[in-house]
Amino acid sequence: MREQLLHRTCEWCGKPGEYIGKGRPPRHCSPVHRRRAWELRTAQDRAERPVSEGGRNREPVREVIQRTVTLPARRLSGQPYTLPEDAVEWVQALAALRREAVTNPRVAPFREQLASACERTARALRTDGT
Ligand SMILES: [Zn+2]
Repeated sequence: MREQLLHRTCEWCGKPGEYIGKGRPPRHCSPVHRRRAWELRTAQDRAERPVSEGGRNREPVREVIQRTVTLPARRLSGQPYTLPEDAVEWVQALAALRREAVTNPRVAPFREQLASACERTARALRTDGT
């Protein structure tokens, strides 16, 4: 009885490859699949090398995140945000606040908060500004 290898499947893809009958039968159908199989066999060793020798880092991944908050350029009403530019305008703005607090039902629920803010501001205006 005589045995002769005729075909051998690729260790990577399983594709049958014809054996020409000379030398060691190839284990892979192509250099690409031989390379992939080698990479897989040796991956663990390469990963366990020191980082300085190309190994894998064991530290958890860290991220530094910069958060930039952009204030809306316009109010809900569509008007641009602007602050009074001088003392006269501030006095006018505070008078407008006073009117709104009395007449505007959307402001009424926040009267106490506004009053506290005004009191803090008044204290700061009467002292050194802090
Ligand atoms: Zn293959």
